[in-house]
Amino acid sequence: MAGFDPYSTLGVGKEATPDEVKKAYRNLARKYHPDHNPNDNSAEEKFKEVKKAYDILSDPGKRQQYDSFGFTGDEQPGAGGFNGFGDGGYGFNFGDIFETMFGDGFGRSSSQTRSRQGADVSVNISLTFEEAIFGAEKEVAARVMATCEECQGTGAKNGTERRQCSQCQGSGRIQTVQNTILGRIVQPRVCPKCNGTGTEILQSCANCRGQGRVEANTRKKINIPPGVDTGTRLRVSGAGHAGSNGAPPGDLYIHIAVGKHEYFERKGQHIHLKVPIGLAQAAMGVELDIPTIDGTKRLQVPGGTESGTIFRFNGKGVPNLNRGGRGDQIITVEIEVPKRLTPEQKDALRKYAKASGETVENIDNSLAARLKRVFGGR
Ligand SMILES: [Zn+2]
Ligand SMILES: [Zn+2]
Repeated sequence: MAGFDPYSTLGVGKEATPDEVKKAYRNLARKYHPDHNPNDNSAEEKFKEVKKAYDILSDPGKRQQYDSFGFTGDEQPGAGGFNGFGDGGYGFNFGDIFETMFGDGFGRSSSQTRSRQGADVSVNISLTFEEAIFGAEKEVAARVMATCEECQGTGAKNGTERRQCSQCQGSGRIQTVQNTILGRIVQPRVCPKCNGTGTEILQSCANCRGQGRVEANTRKKINIPPGVDTGTRLRVSGAGHAGSNGAPPGDLYIHIAVGKHEYFERKGQHIHLKVPIGLAQAAMGVELDIPTIDGTKRLQVPGGTESGTIFRFNGKGVPNLNRGGRGDQIITVEIEVPKRLTPEQKDALRKYAKASGETVENIDNSLAARLKRVFGGR
């Protein structure tokens, strides 16, 4: 924790009152909350730091300790982001903080007993171009801490009872005494033996070794909505790690990556397509059947169309995930100049050149004169 300064993290001075600390925390926690900053890892990091800083400065004991020594000895359980899986879960929950900050209407703070909401779990899935546009049902596998079925998450062997915790005599809290150069600091703490529940198990559940949770592979059918794209994050509420001591589970976050298409290119809501046409088609016009993601659609290319001309099929693009409606298909016409000509084609082009006064296969002395005409030479 060397170098971590809770004061500068919250942007308050050393003399800040508890109210000022709370106000600064509230503002920053709202600003960096993951719900407001989806897919933003730096905001998530910032949010964790802000929370850590508040944990220190809102606790008079820890604040005094920090002021004296520049660090605190006890980190909040789980605050380090390590959740035992290394799968990118948060390791602590955001909902809990807001409950503590703004009240849950019952005056019960979950920090009194160490029942913690389960951590969130992240998984990556790949979708094809079409699946991302039209939506899909996908089976998503995740490795999570699940509630132990043997003991229903109690950690106690089936049928065995719980007794009063021998360390805290049922209060759920203990006093820790630290001798420092400034004297003794007495701090109430959550009892480590019973995690603040005040009871302990007579005999542990063999399946989960008394933890109440076991590692499990889960498979869930997820309906992917139409219009997702690479970088879209879907949340499946309650499908993360199980909570401890009856606390609610965390969430499952699905990070989406979308594959490329053979000839369509997606840019946000629009689908781009390059269509090659011939010289004669461009000059004289043509009707084309253009592939769209809904099947083919007729396109009228007028005579005299230049290479790079853009046509648009309204509403043939990607559905909008949030607002409804669809983007467009954007067609760029590219005129193909033939690289090799048959004698017959050469003949036809010579006739064309003669008819339009173009010199081919010789030096064209009329170019300067023509340019003069175009640019209005006097
Ligand atoms: Zn205890
Ligand atoms: Zn169990």
